[in-house]
Amino acid sequence: MNNMELDKSGLDNRIFDAFAQTSERTYVYMCNMQTNVSRWSHAAVAYFGLPGEYMLNAGDIWEEHIHPDDRQAYHDNINDLFCGRIQRHAMDYRARTKDGDYVMCTCRGIVLKGENGEPDIFAGTMVNHGIVENVDAVTNLYNGYEFLRAMNKLINEKKRAYVLMIGIDHFHNVNYIYGYDYGNIILHSFAAKLKTITHGIGTVYRMDGSRFAVCLNDIPMEQIKELYNRIRSMGNREICVKGANISLGIAGGVFPLGNSNVSEYTIRSCATEALMQSKHNRHGELVFFRNSIHGSIDQTLMLFEAIRRDIVAGCSGFYLVYQPIIDSVSGNICGAEALIRWRSKDSEIVSPDRFIDFLENDTCFYELGSWILERAMTEFRPLLDKNPQLVLNVNISYVQLEHSGFRDLVLDVLNRTQFPPQNLCLELTERCKSLNLIKLKEEMLFFQHHGIEIALDDFGTGASSLNLLRDLPVNLIKVDRAFVSNILTNLADKAILESVIQCSHKLDVRVCIEGVENKQIHNFIEKYRAEEYQGFYFSRPVSVNQFSGLICKERVE
Ligand code: C2E
Ligand code: CA
Ligand code: CA
Repeated sequence: MNNMELDKSGLDNRIFDAFAQTSERTYVYMCNMQTNVSRWSHAAVAYFGLPGEYMLNAGDIWEEHIHPDDRQAYHDNINDLFCGRIQRHAMDYRARTKDGDYVMCTCRGIVLKGENGEPDIFAGTMVNHGIVENVDAVTNLYNGYEFLRAMNKLINEKKRAYVLMIGIDHFHNVNYIYGYDYGNIILHSFAAKLKTITHGIGTVYRMDGSRFAVCLNDIPMEQIKELYNRIRSMGNREICVKGANISLGIAGGVFPLGNSNVSEYTIRSCATEALMQSKHNRHGELVFFRNSIHGSIDQTLMLFEAIRRDIVAGCSGFYLVYQPIIDSVSGNICGAEALIRWRSKDSEIVSPDRFIDFLENDTCFYELGSWILERAMTEFRPLLDKNPQLVLNVNISYVQLEHSGFRDLVLDVLNRTQFPPQNLCLELTERCKSLNLIKLKEEMLFFQHHGIEIALDDFGTGASSLNLLRDLPVNLIKVDRAFVSNILTNLADKAILESVIQCSHKLDVRVCIEGVENKQIHNFIEKYRAEEYQGFYFSRPVSVNQFSGLICKERVE
């Protein structure tokens, strides 16, 4: 559609004209939210090589210009604006010019409402900071790319150093409640103090969102611990924005460099993994990478490198096994949980416990998660022809749920594999609570609306299981085997199991008890009236063909 055919109503504005003609590196834009037609400064159109001053669906056109690593945040933000969830837009991102360079832009915008309160015009400005490749515009710190470059240099020079990865807890809530502008001021202030505290012993980088990395010289361990405590108390007590004291919860992880032959990407993922351990399992206590994973650090790192390479090359070393889930009343198989395995070049079979937590922090995880979903549905689909009641459970990580393309991916795979949505259940672990609760609920409702069930996995292992059960629309909880393994002797486990099941049933949520390892446990738990069981007593995880054999056998008997 050319410019002449676009509906330009609402975009004819003389102040826009004046501003657009007088400012050089600040551009203006307006979008009629009813028609989705936008008008941008001539200067921006020329500089970025946009199709014209008036554009239909400029959000999508502009998204193509945004750096791939910044694109998702932009996409989510614009989506939130158009859905009416937020009224202001405030972002920094890199955008591609018509010559193919990336420039750093600060974009601000606001939704103006019409007479009846409906979103009418979205308008704002964009400042072009020019070609800034290595500095983050919000904090003036080096950015994540510069971090990777610095790591690469250290690897080549075989230097000893430490990466201290720092995260601010629940920062999305600050943005959500106070807005991005306020959030940015806090980040700026935090970054400046972090720089002062680490002056002389390290370099600070802003990685993404509320995550920072400090590359520390080869200093003693004790000094790193002291430094971390200093950073925590700074976050807790010393941030003051617009006269208000802000208390930030801090988590931190450390990864040592110089001992192993690993890539800069693995360094970033390992340091982030240690940070996640600190955040999720240690209430912010500092976690050293080598303490957080089983096995020697070298073996672990070599494994991660090999797994990363395999994912990038198409996941050929991965395969799925299926563990039957049993209907407690009939005693028959009512479904299966898909579980991932990885086979190394020496044919060693590696269990997911050794790599899932680490991979969740790696940018390649989304690809693996998508591969799992598609492979599981493709392999399982033929079984539904003769057993239309079977449900396939697939484990989903919170990082998948966070991804703006995940909804479409699930619907697309369902469509391509002709998999009925009511035969699919997505299992989420308690880690999903690190997402904004409102967003999490929206995602769950979206899938349920399409007929897909949602299970809460590892139930009872974290501190907030009951809160999640109360706040989220869950169909099924999976009680972790930690409660079941000592059930015959442990009074506390018995009491917890009993009350969790009662509570779930009152909320109309079904229960699956995991870790039913033997006959005694099975006999013992029958009185609790959980709907489903899973465990080695019924079957270990098996290949899809073996699983198919198990159901055939059941049908014959
Ligand atoms: P999970 O989701 O809680 O999966 C159940 C785990 O318990 C499986 O271990 C299963 O083999 C094991 N298990 C089942 N019954 C028994 C029993 O009676 N006794 C004992 N001792 N263990 C039993 P697995 O396959 O090693 O998976 C470990 C964890 O890795 C899973 O725990 C899940 O959190 C994660 N995981 C596995 N596959 C995937 C996947 O495809 N995607 C994601 N995101 N995570 C996965
Ligand atoms: Ca699971
Ligand atoms: Ca589980």
